[in-house]
Amino acid sequence: MIVTKFGGSSLADAGQFEKVRHIIFENTDRRYVVPSAPGKRFDKDDKVTDLLYLCHDSAKMGEPFSLHLNRIRARYEEIASQLQVAIDFSDDFAAIEAALAHGASRAYAASRGEYLNGKLLSAYLGFDFVDAADVIRFDENGQLMEQETNTLLSRRLANHKCAVIPGFYGADETGAIHTFSRGGSDISGALVARAVNADVYENWTDVTGMRMADPRIVKDAQYIESLTYRELRELSYMGATVLHGDAVFPVRKMGIPTNIRNTNDPLHPGTVIRTSAGQESLPQTITGIAGSKGFTIISIEKDMMNAELGFGRRVLQAFEEHGLSFEHLPTGIDTMCIVINAKDLAPHLDHVLDRIRELVAPDQITVHENVAMVATVGRGMVRAAGTAARLFTALATQGISVRIIDQGSSELSIIVGVDESQFEMTIEAIYDAFVRM
Ligand code: ASP
Repeated sequence: MIVTKFGGSSLADAGQFEKVRHIIFENTDRRYVVPSAPGKRFDKDDKVTDLLYLCHDSAKMGEPFSLHLNRIRARYEEIASQLQVAIDFSDDFAAIEAALAHGASRAYAASRGEYLNGKLLSAYLGFDFVDAADVIRFDENGQLMEQETNTLLSRRLANHKCAVIPGFYGADETGAIHTFSRGGSDISGALVARAVNADVYENWTDVTGMRMADPRIVKDAQYIESLTYRELRELSYMGATVLHGDAVFPVRKMGIPTNIRNTNDPLHPGTVIRTSAGQESLPQTITGIAGSKGFTIISIEKDMMNAELGFGRRVLQAFEEHGLSFEHLPTGIDTMCIVINAKDLAPHLDHVLDRIRELVAPDQITVHENVAMVATVGRGMVRAAGTAARLFTALATQGISVRIIDQGSSELSIIVGVDESQFEMTIEAIYDAFVRM
C-alpha cells in the first residue's frame, strides 16, 4: 500500500488536479492521499495558506477581510467548476467567515486551506474524507502527540479503503486546531504512512527528486537516486531543502522508504530515501554536497588545554549563558573551535569573548567572520580510501584555503569551513572532483 502526499504546486489549479488523479488511479495501491492547500500557479501568485494568514491578521486588527476570503473561495470554485465536481462551499465559507470575525486562531485560519482542498480532492477522486482534526492529535501547547495520533489514525483508516486526509493540521482534545510549521503537510503524510504501515511514502512535488548539489550553483547537478535518512539529515541540516525536517522520523522508525516524485514528470523515478541503502557499490563515493553561509568561528588556544579539567564545559557555558547553541565543535590538543551562527552571535559577541576570558583565561582567542560551511556527504566515504585527499586536493588546486575541517563523528560527512566569498567555488570544486572527475 502506498501513501501519497501532494504539495501545493501539485494542486494549484484544475490542470494539476487532473495530473494528480491520473497518478493516483494509475496504481490501485495508492489508497491514502494527503494534500496541501493550493500553492502558486505562477511566480507572483499567492499561496492559499498565505491568503488565509492575511485574512486572520486583518480580522485581528478589526480590518475587513472578505476581499481576501473571496479570492480564496474563487480559487476553489474555479477548480471545482473546471473539473465538474459538484460541491457547494457556501456553508464552509460562512463558517470560516464567522469564526474569523469571532477571533478564531491563526492555526485555525491556516488549516482551512488543507481542509477545503481535502474535501475538494476527495469529491473529485470519489475517496472518503477524513478530517485531520479527528486523527492528528496535538497537546494544548501545540506539540504533536505521536503515539496517540498513530493509534487514532490506524484505527480510523482501517474503516476506509481509500481516503483523503488533509495535511498540515490536527487538533487537541478540546477540538482546538493546531498546525505544524510551514511545509508541515510532509509530516502529516509521514504520520499516515506510519499508521497504515505503508510500503512506501510518496511525496509528490514539483522537482524531480533531490540533486547532488544546489542547481543554482551547479547547474547540471545530477539527481540522487537513493540515499539514507541519515544522509538526508546531514544534507538538509546544511541547507538542502526538499522535505520538512520532521517528516523523516515517523517513517524512518518503521523502515518505510520515502520517494520524492515530480507531479509534472511522473515517469521519473525520483529520489528514494531509505533507512539503510544496503551495501550496493556506489557510482561515486559521495551522495551530495550542501552548505550555507553565515557562520563565525571562534578559536581558542591555550597550552595544555587537554589536561585542564572542565575546560570545554566552561567555554560552552559562556555560550549557554547567552542562549547560544553551537553548530560544530572541532578540537585539537591545545585549541578548540566553536562554529556558530553569525546572526545569533553578533549581538553577544563581545560579552561572550569577555566571559570566555574570565572562565578559562586562554592564551589567545581569534574570531573569523564570514565563514561558509560546506558538507560533503556520503555513506560510501568511509569505505573508500583517499576521499579526503581527493577533496582537499580539489580545494587546493582551486586556491581555496580551508579554515576548519570537521569529519562528523557519524563518518558520513566531511565538513569544511571556507571564506564566504569562496562558497560557490568550493561546492563546484568538490562536485568536479567527485562527480565530473
Ligand atoms: N500549506 C502549508 C504551507 O504553505 C503547509 C504545506 O503546504 O505543507 O506551508
